[in-house]
Amino acid sequence: MSSDTGDGTAGGDTPRTMALTLAALYAAGATSGALTLLFPHHAAADEAGLWTNVGLAALGAVILVALASHVRVWAIHIGIAAGTLVITRAVYLSHDAGTFYTYWYVWVGLFGFFFFDRRAAIAHLALAGAAYAWSLDEVGADDPIPRWITMVATIAIAGALIDVVAGRARRRAAEASMQARALAAVSDVAHELARQTSPEGAGPAVCDATARVAGADGVVLWEPGPSGSALVATASTDSALRGTAIPFLSPPAGAVRTFTSGEPWARLEGGDPGEAAPAGSVEGSALFQPVLRDGVPIGVLAIHWRHQVSTIGDDLRRTIALLAVEAAIAIQREQMLVRLERVARTDELTGLSNRRAWDEHLARELARAARTTQPLAVAMLDLDRFKDYNDRFGHQAGDRVLKEAAAQWGSRLRKTDVLARYGGEEFALALPNEGLEEARETLERLREATPMGQRVSVGLVCWDGTEDANGLMARADAAMYEAKRAGRDRVVTA
Ligand code: GH3
Ligand code: MG
Ligand code: MG
Repeated sequence: MSSDTGDGTAGGDTPRTMALTLAALYAAGATSGALTLLFPHHAAADEAGLWTNVGLAALGAVILVALASHVRVWAIHIGIAAGTLVITRAVYLSHDAGTFYTYWYVWVGLFGFFFFDRRAAIAHLALAGAAYAWSLDEVGADDPIPRWITMVATIAIAGALIDVVAGRARRRAAEASMQARALAAVSDVAHELARQTSPEGAGPAVCDATARVAGADGVVLWEPGPSGSALVATASTDSALRGTAIPFLSPPAGAVRTFTSGEPWARLEGGDPGEAAPAGSVEGSALFQPVLRDGVPIGVLAIHWRHQVSTIGDDLRRTIALLAVEAAIAIQREQMLVRLERVARTDELTGLSNRRAWDEHLARELARAARTTQPLAVAMLDLDRFKDYNDRFGHQAGDRVLKEAAAQWGSRLRKTDVLARYGGEEFALALPNEGLEEARETLERLREATPMGQRVSVGLVCWDGTEDANGLMARADAAMYEAKRAGRDRVVTA
């Protein structure tokens, strides 16, 4: 029987089930009692008294059926104790030390050990034993002690067997439901992983599934932050916790401990109190499961219970480990998407933004300029006679010029300026908050900084406040061709 359900029951059955079962026992008692009276029986028996007993038992059955949906566990205890008294009355009224009515005591034992925890069942057994002892004394049995011992031993043995069998069945049912929950949780996450197109979706799905399967109050996925000096909550069942950080050098937190050791660690009832749990949840219990890639920690799945948990079963631990594997896949996929995204937006040769990223940057800068009414200057830079350079020194030397030009120009710009490789030997530059004059000075500086003896022609325009990105770029392009026509190696403003 399960150790502690708090209400004296073995757990798993509702008071309604208990009431209906007890009603069936009462009904069976009334019926079998009536039958014993219809057939020849001991002459000394108090016939009328025994018929009232049959009536009492039948009444008990009716009351229990009527109240089955409303009874509490304490009422069931009273019901079974009342049953013991009705049986004892039958034994007494039989005026027969060897009466068969004593077998009914076994029913009390079976019921008690099946539905109640061990303590409550033993209490009912004790009551039955005491009542039987009294009735043996009253009917004047000449061998009361052997009778009593045999009866009580029979109830105890039957009860013990029921206790073991019922306990086993309940454990198996609990395991099966745990496994079903685990399977559902893992498959939920797998579906989420397969479905998710945004990189952020799978982390919360892992947290939610873990909380559900563990019956936990909160789950956080910790990953090392960009600075490398702290763990950051990247996903959580509580979205307010997202972005929380625990520095690696803080008092040893469970998540940090697990991240450094790569081993699961649990803070359970009566365990290590030196744990500073994140987000103030120092109370309760926690399990920290490392999220590993090739055996190396890349995160921690932290599971919190507000109440004290004394043990975490092997099944649950295995399921949580499986969910941590799913978390690893989610993290890996997210990192891969971020990397892909970066590759897709970067020019490989120069490391600058490529044309695709430039289009996005420019749209953003135009929106910002419109919002802030600050000026926005845009320039096209095209290396002069670059084909000749390639022809003379080779394509690889040409590549080096492109790379070096990007580096030299880039180093002379503000953080907020956007320099992109527009294509071939053409570069585009956005200078937010710079008017034409200021921008012209900037571009003269860049022109002079063009490396390896190369020259550049620049078309410079200032956004007119209404034109779209295409119109702006077309004007910059036209100004650049104007610079070519005017003899190259110069900045022409439109
Ligand atoms: P202009 O002064 O009129 O701009 O003359 P140009 O030779 O620079 O112009 P044109 O458009 O005729 O030639 C551009 C050259 O840029 C052609 C091509 O060989 C070179 N080029 C484009 N992309 C690359 C690259 O990635 N690496 C190298 N090495 N050369 C490139
Ligand atoms: Mg060109
Ligand atoms: Mg050129």
